Amino acid sequence: MSKKRQPQRHKHVPERTCVACRMHRPKKALVRIVRLAEGGIVVDETGKQKGRGAYICRQQVCWQQAFKRGALNRALRTTLAETEITVLQTYAATLPETLDLDDAVPEIENSTEEV
Ligand SMILES: [Zn+2]
Repeated sequence: MSKKRQPQRHKHVPERTCVACRMHRPKKALVRIVRLAEGGIVVDETGKQKGRGAYICRQQVCWQQAFKRGALNRALRTTLAETEITVLQTYAATLPETLDLDDAVPEIENSTEEV
């Protein structure tokens, strides 16, 4: 068994959906929040934390909306404790109020090629 996997030429930009505005965005325009298996909520800057994750845009408006609508509870299948919400709100306060998403979106390759 010496078959080597061909590395993909295409730069695939992984997209995720914001739990607040339901927009699909490139991963880096979103913040991942993870509910850890052992309990607790963390803001996962590395994207590698294990656990159930939810994504929210890097903009305060989406976070406020998520808190208001309980979108995180649904996405993470939990009920956030007040202390956890406080932690998340503190994090949200460091984000820009609205993100100029054009800045966050990587250049789109003009390729019509289909695989
Ligand atoms: Zn959003």
